[in-house]
Amino acid sequence: MSNREKELTENLAEIKEEVAEAASRAGRKPGEVEVLAVSKLHPASDIEILYNAGHRLFGESYVQEALNKMEELSGLDVDWHFIGGLQSKKAKYVAGKFSAVHSVDSSKLAGLINKKAAALDVVQNILIQVNTAGEEQKSGVSEEQLPALIEEITGFENLKVIGLMALPPFFGDPEGARPYFARLRMLSEGMEKLFGIKLPELSMGMTGDFKVAIEEGSTMVRVGTKIFGRRPGY
Ligand SMILES: *Cc1c(COP(=O)(O)O)cnc(C)c1O
Repeated sequence: MSNREKELTENLAEIKEEVAEAASRAGRKPGEVEVLAVSKLHPASDIEILYNAGHRLFGESYVQEALNKMEELSGLDVDWHFIGGLQSKKAKYVAGKFSAVHSVDSSKLAGLINKKAAALDVVQNILIQVNTAGEEQKSGVSEEQLPALIEEITGFENLKVIGLMALPPFFGDPEGARPYFARLRMLSEGMEKLFGIKLPELSMGMTGDFKVAIEEGSTMVRVGTKIFGRRPGY
């Protein structure tokens, strides 16, 4: 086993253990929380290492980089998720390529993904990114606009909303993020009631705060640095 293989498989095993512990602390089953390995800016060979160790769920943030990796790993049955900010002009490249797009935050973007999904005759799973902290420059729909957005998206036949996603502000102490995670869960429950739909996924929690996110109901933590180390160029 190479050093990199050893490092990545050990890191992932450690995280899965911590995820299971956090879940059981919160009275949840370990199987309720999935680990999305965020491989952005790391090479396809790293994905292959974890794939060979049995991991399938990977998250990417940059469209072109993700498509290149898909091509490189085309023989593998990787479960790709798109989690990055998405420009309108790139929307057509994600439809049909990812198990889920976590970062939909406008009806314009949703409409563009829907159009491409319709052309491909597929139903694209999406999550709606909510700006729970109301931060000026951050992507994500505001809480106030969320119901209207969900209502509009319900009209798109080739999209399926499977949950909500949030990227709260960074806090040195993960406890700082807790209220935003709790808020996302509350919003999700509110939307389920309002629209009579199921929103099974809550995509929240990263390297620094995934345990707190799990305690607040996360079903998918997006962990990069703690698995792959620092991203090159950062
Ligand atoms: C990069 C990224 C992550 C992973 O962050 P880490 O702190 O490295 O775990 C999670 N979510 C999103 C949306 C990201 O862009």
